[in-house]
Amino acid sequence: MAITESDPVQRLVTTTRPGKTLARRFVAGDTLEDAVAAARTLNDSGAAVSFDLLGEEVTNRDSAVVATDEYLDCLRRIEKEGLDANISVKPTQLGLAIDPSLAGESIDRLARAALVLDNTVTLDMEDSRYTRATIELFETAQRAHGNLGIAIQAYLRRSPSDLERLVPLGGHIRLCKGAYVEPEEVALTSKSEVDRAFAEQLRVLMRASTTTPAIATHDSALVDLARELAVDRGQAPYEFQMLYGVRPDLQRRLVAEGHRLRVYLPFGSEWYPYLTRRLAERPANAWFFARAMFGH
Ligand SMILES: Cc1cc2nc3c(=O)[nH]c(=O)nc-3n(C[C@H](O)[C@H](O)[C@H](O)COP(=O)(O)OP(=O)(O)OC[C@H]3O[C@@H](n4cnc5c(N)ncnc54)[C@H](O)[C@@H]3O)c2cc1C
Repeated sequence: MAITESDPVQRLVTTTRPGKTLARRFVAGDTLEDAVAAARTLNDSGAAVSFDLLGEEVTNRDSAVVATDEYLDCLRRIEKEGLDANISVKPTQLGLAIDPSLAGESIDRLARAALVLDNTVTLDMEDSRYTRATIELFETAQRAHGNLGIAIQAYLRRSPSDLERLVPLGGHIRLCKGAYVEPEEVALTSKSEVDRAFAEQLRVLMRASTTTPAIATHDSALVDLARELAVDRGQAPYEFQMLYGVRPDLQRRLVAEGHRLRVYLPFGSEWYPYLTRRLAERPANAWFFARAMFGH
């Protein structure tokens, strides 16, 4: 069932204290101010940051333009504060579900502004309805500006060939497992298959000299594999990426070992869809919420 504004579960989570407390574990806060403060703390601990203004699947052009303007503010603020940070954007937040050319214009504006500020823009990958269009948006903007990144979901059956096509374009490629529920024809569904696919694609990515691999997982076994593969990269850049609030122990360890780590830092009031994906990845989070809610 699609979760809508009037969904009782959504109302319960977004309007009660346990729901908001749970969200605060994964989200820096409602405002850019909150995100800047969290980014400062993360930078001080040795981690870079990627700002994610929460919001997705906008249904009118004005909302897409507002989101783009807010991201432009974010880029200027990063510069002003001297933060080690870039931005991650969801193409449907910039209009992809309404009109691909609107999303293209928004990404173009962001990439141009980022270029002037010596910064980069990463395209998050959403569900498989948007994969092809997101890849095309990346290709166009990366060819024009050269400062783009894109997320590739290891669970998608198409990803090995997408990687082959994207690696020569440079930029950075963020390899993640994939967070959306997808049909079996489109994506691998068992954990062992997904982990194996991630490992295979990681090998391809870490061998590539044209791109900067971003290893986006909290899975200790895959982090260990990436560590081993990093030895052969020599001086070629790569980075680990993890979500704000997830496995802070592992985050600290990687920084202490001298690896570059970037923390994906969501902020904004539209946190419900993001939170549901984090709960789905780890049912223990949902139990924590239920216990806090019902006192058992
Ligand atoms: C920086 C970054 C960017 C991402 N961008 C995208 C994107 O653009 N598109 C997309 O589809 N997905 C994205 N993801 C999400 C990703 O696809 C996975 O859903 C998510 O990272 C969980 O998979 P995992 O690799 O950590 O492995 P898992 O096998 O799911 O988890 C490994 C271990 O990590 C810990 N863990 C993982 N998730 C949680 C959680 N929610 N709460 C608490 N502990 C947890 C647990 O200890 C778990 O045992 C991103 C992930 C990261 C880290």
